[in-house]
Amino acid sequence: MRKHIVAGNWKLNNDLAETQALIASLKGQIITSDAEVMIAPTFTNLWHANEAVKDNDIEVIAQNMHFAENGAYTGEVNASMLKSIGIHTVILGHSERRAYYNETDESLVQKVDAALKHNMRVIFCFGEELLDRTSGNHESVVKNQIKKALFHLDASAFKNIVLAYEPVWAIGTGETASPEQAQDMHKFIRETLANKYDKTIADHVSILYGGSVKPNNAQEIFSKPDVDGGLIGGAALKAEDFFAIVNAF
Ligand code: PEP
Repeated sequence: MRKHIVAGNWKLNNDLAETQALIASLKGQIITSDAEVMIAPTFTNLWHANEAVKDNDIEVIAQNMHFAENGAYTGEVNASMLKSIGIHTVILGHSERRAYYNETDESLVQKVDAALKHNMRVIFCFGEELLDRTSGNHESVVKNQIKKALFHLDASAFKNIVLAYEPVWAIGTGETASPEQAQDMHKFIRETLANKYDKTIADHVSILYGGSVKPNNAQEIFSKPDVDGGLIGGAALKAEDFFAIVNAF
């Protein structure tokens, strides 16, 4: 059966000392839910973070990676480098990467393929803009994003894929999709997967919701049958808030 997952995306926050302090606070929290817990610090702190969480039920994951095996790509980090320091999961396609670094569904294919080739788990992010939602095109936009970036994959690849539906209008804005809007979209995504592959694949993929999830709304969002967890930005930077969300299941 699919897993519950709560992943904290730290984005461009926390230097080494702050990373160590936040991890120390996270280790002081108790997981009372069945959710897998993940944190995504910045590249420079991945190794330290991974050492610091050893023997805890927290997985350290990366916020991004490059697709190439090596070469002239100044400033980049690839799958082998991540794996060499014990990182096995990567977030790909976050809306901030799409907006500020020109990542597209087409270019993300290379990243998805590279991560899977290295046997990494991918948290693949997608979601519509506000205008797509207000004009009623949100389902077709989301379907296209998934289709372009993932539908070249064999069904077996989906054991290493987690989907993260993140409506762009709800990220870092304090606006949240209502639990019903999240459920409707997650159900639609599952139907889209069932039509392309089969119901077993669709039923086994974890679909996370992301967009201003906070301790005061997590329980209601997570209570929806097709919502398997959350990708958390702002609220992941405070241990108590993050664990209130983890324990909302
Ligand atoms: C995110 O960055 O993936 C995110 C969901 O951010 P926030 O929770 O701050 O909206």
